[in-house]
Amino acid sequence: MLTMHQVARTYDDGQPVHALLPTDLHIAAGDHVSITGPSGSGKSTLLNIFGLLDAPSAGAYHVAGVDTVTCGPALRTAIRGQVFGFVFQSFHLLPGRTALENVEIGLLYGPHRRRKRRQMAAEALERMGLGHRMRADPRQLSGGERQRVAIARAVAARPQVLFCDEPTGNLDSANTQGVLALLRQLNRDGLTVVVVTHDPTVAETAGRRLRVTDGVVREI
Ligand code: ADP
Repeated sequence: MLTMHQVARTYDDGQPVHALLPTDLHIAAGDHVSITGPSGSGKSTLLNIFGLLDAPSAGAYHVAGVDTVTCGPALRTAIRGQVFGFVFQSFHLLPGRTALENVEIGLLYGPHRRRKRRQMAAEALERMGLGHRMRADPRQLSGGERQRVAIARAVAARPQVLFCDEPTGNLDSANTQGVLALLRQLNRDGLTVVVVTHDPTVAETAGRRLRVTDGVVREI
C-alpha cells in the first residue's frame, strides 16, 4: 500500500537539517503501525511524507503503485483527499457547527451530493457511537467525544489509510481507551492505520511498531 525506497528529508534552514535519513519501509494494506521516538527524532517528518503533506528530498514513495514523486500535484491531492484520512491531537473541529456538519465538511471535496454527504456523515458518527450526539456543538462534547467526531470526519469518505498524529494526546486514560478501541475496530474492518504517539499504551495496540531515533527508523 505504502512503499518508501531510500526516502530522506533534509530541511534547508540556513544549514541542512537531516530530519529523515534514507529509509526503506513497506506498509501493507490492513497493517496497524505505531511510530514512536523522542521529540525531534523525525516522527512528524515521516508522517508528513507518508500522508503526502510534504515531499521527500530524495528517494521514491509509492502509494498503491503510484509514484507520488513524479505523478503531479493533482493526483497527489486526489490521493490525499480520497485514499487517506487524517486525525490530529487537537481535533480541529469548527465551533458553532454541529457534529454532523463537522463530519460533512470532510466530504465537501469528494464526488458526493449534499444528501449523500449527510447520510455518509451520519453513518460515520453512528459507527463511532455518536448517533445520539449529531446535533451537538463540539463545545458541548467531552474530549473523547470530540476526538470520535474527528475520527468520524476522517473515515466518512471510507479512506484506505488513516494517519493519526498523537490522537490521544489530549485525552484522559478512559477516553484514550475508547479511541484505541475504535482504531482497533476500524483496522479489523480493513483500514490501514498509522499512528504517531509518545504513549506506550497506544503504541502497544499496534501490530507493528516503528521507532525513530535521530532520523533513523527501526522496526521493533
Ligand atoms: P518529531 O516529530 O519526532 O518531534 P520532527 O519530524 O518534527 O520530529 O523534526 C525532526 C527534525 O527536523 C528536528 O531536528 C526538527 O527541528 C527539524 N525540523 C522539522 N521541521 C523543520 C522545518 N520545517 N525546518 C527546519 N527544520 C525542521
